[in-house]
Amino acid sequence: MIRFNRPYMTGTELSSIAQAHQNGHLSGDGPFTRECHAWLRERTQAKTALLTHSCTAALEMAALLLRLEPGDEVIMPSYTFVSTASAFALRGAVPVFVDVRSDTLNIDEALIEQAVTAKTKAICVVHYAGVSCEMDEIMAIAQRHGLRVVEDAAQGIMSSYRGRPLGTIGDLGAFSFHETKNIISGEGGALLCRDEEYGEAAEIIREKGTNRSRFFRGQVDKYTWVDVGSSYLPGEITAAFLSAQMQHAEAITQRRLAIWDQYHTWAQKHEESGRLRRPVIPAHCTHNAHMYYMLMPSLEHRTRFIDGLKERGVQAVFHYIPLHSSPAGMECGRAQGDLPVTNDVSERLVRMPLWLGLEPEMGHVLRSADEAIEEAFA
Ligand SMILES: *Cc1c(COP(=O)(O)O)cnc(C)c1O
Repeated sequence: MIRFNRPYMTGTELSSIAQAHQNGHLSGDGPFTRECHAWLRERTQAKTALLTHSCTAALEMAALLLRLEPGDEVIMPSYTFVSTASAFALRGAVPVFVDVRSDTLNIDEALIEQAVTAKTKAICVVHYAGVSCEMDEIMAIAQRHGLRVVEDAAQGIMSSYRGRPLGTIGDLGAFSFHETKNIISGEGGALLCRDEEYGEAAEIIREKGTNRSRFFRGQVDKYTWVDVGSSYLPGEITAAFLSAQMQHAEAITQRRLAIWDQYHTWAQKHEESGRLRRPVIPAHCTHNAHMYYMLMPSLEHRTRFIDGLKERGVQAVFHYIPLHSSPAGMECGRAQGDLPVTNDVSERLVRMPLWLGLEPEMGHVLRSADEAIEEAFA
């Protein structure tokens, strides 16, 4: 079976881990963590970059940093992973679900303003498939209404919007290094703070609410409890693995893009014959080939296509169940309108295998997909 995902390892992770072992520093914020922080700051120009044990943790930190209180509202798409909403709901905030654009499947910026109320505190955007939301319009809306912007850039490392790295356009950004993402450490993530404003508070929240980081920099002579917080930092073994991946980030992205392009070229004939719709990459965005998805004409076509691929040993999968119609989403959130695009695309979207090492199998994958499409439309 050609699996939907296989984590890619560069081969240098083990020597990094051996080095961490030798360093004898296993808890967080050792030399490998510092190396990852420097890489992230350099690549993104964020003022502060902090490794976390997941993107979920980074989003939870964002919710704490915004000092959200019960009843505060956060506008976000419904077509996303649960953590986008759960991180804010944990603080008692209300996720307000807005529909997505039918081209990029990102939050529809034209619908955001109608969802703003006196209780709205923030907008949390999600860059689906590593393709940017319309950030200029979204930042302008935030400015008009005095809102903060958090970017769930879990899928967005190495992607950009008008030349700017995703995760650093809003006030706060969150990356994921989960093994299903492009750059990985098993479980892992990072919080980015665009300006100085949140940097120090973020360090404190990540270190159980203490000023331990200031203490280690010699800025205070003892460390103490100064705020609420939790333990959001990964250990050095994880950071060692991640630092090896980061050194190959450019090459990983290029190889992923080559596979993505192969799918895109292949799918053109099927798009022209009206059997599927290919992903849309706006001209002002560069992407990281996080995902190759296609939209089939109906749920029935998608089911037949996925089944046909499975019979040929290829695993393709659908994606999110919309959060606004999930049990927890209905309990703690609110939908802005009927979200017709979200409801529609969630039934029609299919994702193809995309991982490094798939290259020699692509002939088989594409032939199988041609056959499965013929069957799906028979
Ligand atoms: C993967 C993902 C997350 C969660 O990342 P973790 O590192 O597993 O916590 C959150 N949001 C989106 C959009 C994701 O794709």
